[in-house]
Order: sequence, then structure tokens, then C-alpha cells
Amino acid sequence: MRKRIISSIVLLLLVLMLSVAAASESQLIRVGILREVSEVTISAYDGFDIIDLQSGITIASDLDSMVLKPGYMGVRLAGEEDKEYFQVLLKPHMSDGIQLNYLEAGGKPYRGNIEVRHSTAGKLTVINELSVDEYVMGVVSKEMLAWFEPEALKAQAVIARTYGLHHLNKHASEGFDVCVKTHCQVYDGVRAETTATNQAVEETQGEVLTYNGQLINAVFHSSSGDHTENNENVWFTKGSEWAQPYLRGVSDFDQDGKYASWEKTFTLDEVTQMLTEKGLDIGEFEGIDMTETGVSGQVKWATILGSRGESEVTGEQLRSYLGLYSGKVEIAGGQVREEMITEETVEADKLRTRQRVVVLGAQGHQMGLSLENRYVLGAGDEIHKIGTSRIFAYPFFKTTEETITVIDEDTDNITFKGKGKGHGVGLSQWGAQAMAELGYNYEEILKHYYTGVELEFVGDED
Ligand SMILES: [Zn+2]
Repeated sequence: MRKRIISSIVLLLLVLMLSVAAASESQLIRVGILREVSEVTISAYDGFDIIDLQSGITIASDLDSMVLKPGYMGVRLAGEEDKEYFQVLLKPHMSDGIQLNYLEAGGKPYRGNIEVRHSTAGKLTVINELSVDEYVMGVVSKEMLAWFEPEALKAQAVIARTYGLHHLNKHASEGFDVCVKTHCQVYDGVRAETTATNQAVEETQGEVLTYNGQLINAVFHSSSGDHTENNENVWFTKGSEWAQPYLRGVSDFDQDGKYASWEKTFTLDEVTQMLTEKGLDIGEFEGIDMTETGVSGQVKWATILGSRGESEVTGEQLRSYLGLYSGKVEIAGGQVREEMITEETVEADKLRTRQRVVVLGAQGHQMGLSLENRYVLGAGDEIHKIGTSRIFAYPFFKTTEETITVIDEDTDNITFKGKGKGHGVGLSQWGAQAMAELGYNYEEILKHYYTGVELEFVGDED
């Protein structure tokens, strides 16, 4: 391991980042890089020491590589199976306080130190302890495309730093702050670093977003498809909606982005299968009624109609159940026979309860409806229940003057027309990229997507 050659590119990268690493030394974050593993090999090309955290004593020094395994209560080192340590800290050798030597865990290099401890399930937890800015270096390219404009990358670096600090202790029960998955932020250590993203971290060193002096919950998404959404229309429980003042829906700049608009077609059987797999037991899928949308057109509530009942879901649930890019969707129909139901065209026996129809509203919104247990107004304002065999009245939906698209009984497709990718709240990454291309700087980008926030410096002043 000592013989590894550091390429000049890597060295250049390291030198570039020395100032960041040194300046925010005191602000540490603990990242759970490996969880519930039955052994871990730690190595470093220029040596490392192992310290027993209980006694503070160095128990092994100048190692190239070490295999650690769980004991009964703690951690064991290979070749010393009779001894057990509660928690151990592995520290790479430094040159004049500068880290050019990385610890590798599971074959991946990490800045900072590594702690290994016994997990509650009797295995090992491997924790990377490093400064927040070093952590952010390992996040930016995993959360935003590294070829994005420098100002967009800087916005993402501020978000990653704010998000990391806001979620310290999120995994306190497991002994660390944040995990390496989307549950927190995706972190991949030194491997995730690029010259461009590290520069974005350095140029925003110590900067975070606050609202009323408090760190914000800096949520972001890929693309909103023209307008972002208020947080309370995306994440809420019925009867309890809490509006976060800095997470308001704003116009987006992502119209030319990759996910600005899209379409997805399923067979009705596919939808039935997806819903069943997600535990939604309403029989054969028959249609979706988009009952409420937020300020951006994102679905807030939808009713999924099935042969054995219906289920009210949120837009985020709909997105997750059907694997859609976003919850900003409309039903664009399927292999439909588009037909205006007018006095001229409607036939007495045209509509049956087993048919599915898409209703086009006056504002152009569309909703799929099952006709079971629905009523129509007749020409003389008399009310008719739609029968199992036929209906008798027209004009249909007389009072709202809505038109109807009839889906053929043999139709087996449904097409969703959607906008954006992700939950639609907070910063839109494709929008940030477009703003950067238009010449906005990262502060302007952040203040556009997060209403009323301030950019503050929280690093060490020296
Ligand atoms: Zn997590």
C-alpha cells in the first residue's frame, strides 16, 4: 500500500483544497459509511495508527492495513483475537498537519479519521469523522451533475453544507450524524470529488442558508417543470399542514431542462399490478380522479378508482406507487376514442358503469372517472343514476358544460403527461443550472428558490 503513486492531478487537487480543510477543522460531522458489516479492512498508503477511544492509548501504529472484526461487545483487530476494544479510532499519518494520506475503508478513500464500533446488531459500524467542508466535497457531485455551471455547483455546495449541519444527530442512535444514502445526502468520500465541485466548496467555504437566524431545511429536487411547490402541498398529513415560510412555490427556470415535460404510458393491468404490489387492494384499476392540486399544478390529492373500491392518495404517493418522475401529472388519455358527448352524439346506451371516462374541465384539467354510483342531470334537471346497462339522460353534465372523452371498453392503456422530476419543493437543480447560464450568481439562485433566506458564514474566522 505504501508504494502507491499519487498522480500529479490528485496532488494538485489536494493543494487546492488545503485551505478549506484547515479552516473548518473544528466543525466535525460523523458519517456512517458502512453499517452492519461483519468485517472491514482499513488501509492507508502512508500509514495510520489505531487508538483505543476508551483509554486514549495508541494500540497499534504505523500500519499499512488492518482487518477489524466484531467481538462480543466491541471490536477486535486481526492477529489479536483475544483482545477486544469498545471503540477504536484510526488516524492517518499527516505531513505537517496536512492530510495527503487517506484511509481506505472497503476499498474507498476518505478524508479525516475513521471510527469503528460495535453495532447494536452485533456487527460493525464504520464512521468517517471529518470537517463539514470535507464532507461537502464528497457530496456535491453525487447530488448534482458535476458538469453543471460553477454558480449552480456553488449553490449546491451551500445546500449540502446547510443540509449536513441541519441534520447533525439524525442517526444519533447508531452513533453517527448522517448516512451516505438519499435518506440524508449521498456521500462517497474522495471518489466523489472533482476539481469543479471542490472549487465550488472552497469558494463558498463556511457559508450556509438561514431563515430568522436558524439553519433552513434546504430541500431540493431535480426539476419542477416550470413552477416549484409549497412544502405543505407535498408533505403533509390530513388536517395538519404546516407552511414553511422559506419553502414557497416560485416560478422556475427549467423549461429547457431534461425533465421539463414527459409522458408515460402504462397498460391498465400494469397499473393494477403496481398498485397491488404497493398494498393498495382496490381490485382492477379503473381510473384516477385528480381531486386537488397545489400552486404549481402538482397533485396534492388524487383518488385512485378500482373495481373493488377507491383510495385517496397524496401526489407523492401517486408518484411513488407508479414510479413517475414527479407528482405533477395529468391524464392524457390512452388509446382513447375522443368524442365530445353532445346532444347529437350521445346514445342512450353509450355509457355504462364499467366504462371509464376522462372528464375535461372548463380550465382544461382532466380527470379519470369510473361511472359506478354516479349521477347525471337530465335535460329537464331530473337526476338519473347511471345504470348497469344504460343511461337515459342527456346532455351529459349539463350544468357544468363539460365535455367527455370516452375511453373504448377495449382500451387497455393510460397515459400520464407530467412535468419535472422530484418532489418540486425548494431549489430546482435544472432551474439553478439555467439561472447560472443566464448569469445569476449562486446567492441570487439560492434566494430565488428559498424565500426570504440569508447567506451566513458559520466557519472559523481564522
Ligand atoms: Zn440517513
